[in-house]
Amino acid sequence: MQKDGSILLISGPSGAGKSSLISELEKELKDIYFSVSVTTREKRDGEIDGVDYHFVSKEEFEKDINEGFFLEWAKVHGNYYGTSLRHTLEAIKKGKLVIFDIDVQGFLQAKKRIGEFITSVFVTTPTQDELKRRLLRRGTDKKEDIKRRLDNALDELKLAKEYDFFIINDNLNRAKKELLSIAIASRVRSSTYNLEKFITKWQS
Ligand code: ADP
Ligand code: 5GP
Repeated sequence: MQKDGSILLISGPSGAGKSSLISELEKELKDIYFSVSVTTREKRDGEIDGVDYHFVSKEEFEKDINEGFFLEWAKVHGNYYGTSLRHTLEAIKKGKLVIFDIDVQGFLQAKKRIGEFITSVFVTTPTQDELKRRLLRRGTDKKEDIKRRLDNALDELKLAKEYDFFIINDNLNRAKKELLSIAIASRVRSSTYNLEKFITKWQS
């Protein structure tokens, strides 16, 4: 049956392992659409414009805000980040599983606007120390950026109860299995079906 797609929305402190888990999902599932966010953050070594993010200037971002381009946007760790409304709706109409990697503020905005499509997951490390170790080991952020990310992590964690699911990513393989199960279930959310249409067809 032709049905709308759905959104798997993932949040969690920077360094918790969201990108690693999303790459694993992309290997396992078909018809996935990763929502490439727009950001004013500096590009890290190895990141590709249009793949990891659409990197823009502050002026371009503010123009997009004024033109209503975003489903949600927020200032995170001192930079702007936002999600395209049009691209999201187009992917949902095509029946895709849309993946969002966005922060808590963005989650609350998106839930208000199109909550019926969203299954939300909060990902964290088992401890604060482990988060610090991962950020240092990843080696992509400056010292002051790491400090800011660690400082913000506790505030983000306090909002985890707003999410449908909570994954403690200590073992990548187990966390991957948990996320995969949630992703599969998110595709059959009853609210993503047009029940009236289904019933008409079911009776015919
Ligand atoms: P995020 O996208 O949440 O900022 P990343 O996926 O970039 O986080 O992961 C941060 C770092 O932690 C990376 O170097 C990654 O390889 C590592 N990592 C991810 N998951 C685990 C895990 N379960 N155990 C140990 N290291 C991990
Ligand atoms: P990073 O700079 O490490 O790639 O991302 C920093 C934070 O910004 C992460 O918590 C990530 O989830 C969040 N983020 C990435 N894209 C978006 C977005 O489009 N909107 C919002 N609100 N947050 C985002």
